[in-house]
Amino acid sequence: MQSSAEDRGGELAPKPGRGAVAGRPPFLAVYVPAVVGLHLVLTVVALLGTAFRPEDLLTFAALLACGAVCIEATRRLGMPAGVARDLLSAWWLPAALLLPPLYALLTPIPLQILLQFRVRRTLPHRRILVTSALGLAGAAASVVFHRAVPAPLAGTPDWVVQGYPGIPVAIGCAALFAVVNTLLVAVAAHAAEPESRWRDVLWNRESLLLDVVELCVGVLVAVTSTLSLGMLLLALPPVMLLQRSLMHQQLQAAARTDAKTGLLNAAAWQREADTELSRSVRTHDPLALLLIDIDHFKKVNDTHGHLVGDQVLVGVASTLCGQLRDYDVVGRFGGEEFVVLLPGADTVEACRVAERLRGRVRRLAVPTDDGTVTVTISVGVSLFRMHGEDLIELLAAADLALYRAKQSGRDRVCLPAVDGSREPEA
Ligand code: GH3
Ligand code: MG
Ligand code: MG
Repeated sequence: MQSSAEDRGGELAPKPGRGAVAGRPPFLAVYVPAVVGLHLVLTVVALLGTAFRPEDLLTFAALLACGAVCIEATRRLGMPAGVARDLLSAWWLPAALLLPPLYALLTPIPLQILLQFRVRRTLPHRRILVTSALGLAGAAASVVFHRAVPAPLAGTPDWVVQGYPGIPVAIGCAALFAVVNTLLVAVAAHAAEPESRWRDVLWNRESLLLDVVELCVGVLVAVTSTLSLGMLLLALPPVMLLQRSLMHQQLQAAARTDAKTGLLNAAAWQREADTELSRSVRTHDPLALLLIDIDHFKKVNDTHGHLVGDQVLVGVASTLCGQLRDYDVVGRFGGEEFVVLLPGADTVEACRVAERLRGRVRRLAVPTDDGTVTVTISVGVSLFRMHGEDLIELLAAADLALYRAKQSGRDRVCLPAVDGSREPEA
């Protein structure tokens, strides 16, 4: 869960609408320091008010060591951008449940430093926010758990041996940890990209499943290490194996994705589009293709630099996603060109969607250090059967239509000319 922030974060992840560097919205400039400041203040307060006991320090050191071993194992697998989830909560969740809140506040710090320097360097403010969110979430879980189970490591571990109410409370606190961590990061994610849907920055089915797995593993590790710290040695290999398979799955997903925008890359888009096309052949449903190109994008790069250009790409990708249905197939075709397949859409519907996308992108304002940047798009539309019988023909027809849109002044939606020529309509 440590990096769940990275796959949820507004400017915290390589997803549509995320990844801002320059010109952060004003809210973020207040929010990030506030979260980090709260984490620091609570850590200092906890440092002053915590009695250091040898068994706590030993457990803390053992959990940190397990986390460090997992990070080193991850490092060898490689962790490109887009591979953001791990099972490190297997180690900081037990720290939150078993140790006083101070340790929950401290645990993410060395592990995130290790991740930053040994696995993948990411923007410092992003890493720091992730660390603080985890620390605060751990502290919340720790405070609540210690109210129900005041000394989880002392003497006979009744909360484990008797099971009730200790285990249900531990599960509840693990859920609290996930909720607080997700919320703290989602607020930043949404502030960085107000166009993004809350649903997307909070949870999707996949991330919810991962949260449940992490929650279960974290509680199991807490229970076993309460019985005997040596049992951590037994927990380490299965957790590492689970983490490896999780990484493998994410690496596969990353291979389908355009790292900059989080959309499908050209090859993956083509595969998915082919599947939709075959379905349309079977069902005789209509289907449309939109080829979208940002107007005068070179000027954006030349005027504001490539970083801002990248933010515009991310913003446009996010706007497109926000306006389309879950089953529309959206990809980045390269450069500043996007492609959308609209299953079930006829000419009227396709042009309506294309106009809506054009209008939304027009209203997109990407913040920069000296104001905001706005762009327009030109859209070429082609219809299955009417303009082509396969993907190649449909793309070629949409390309002709896009050319017409550019020639007739840009910032517009065009269909291919009836005679298939490249000339714009008079
Ligand atoms: P038109 O309206 O005719 O489409 O003009 P344009 O300037 O958008 O088109 P052109 O093909 O001349 O320029 C596209 C520019 O997109 C050139 C290239 O540097 C830039 N570009 C391509 N990929 C990226 C990227 O990933 N990031 C950034 N920042 N720029 C990119
Ligand atoms: Mg262009
Ligand atoms: Mg282009």
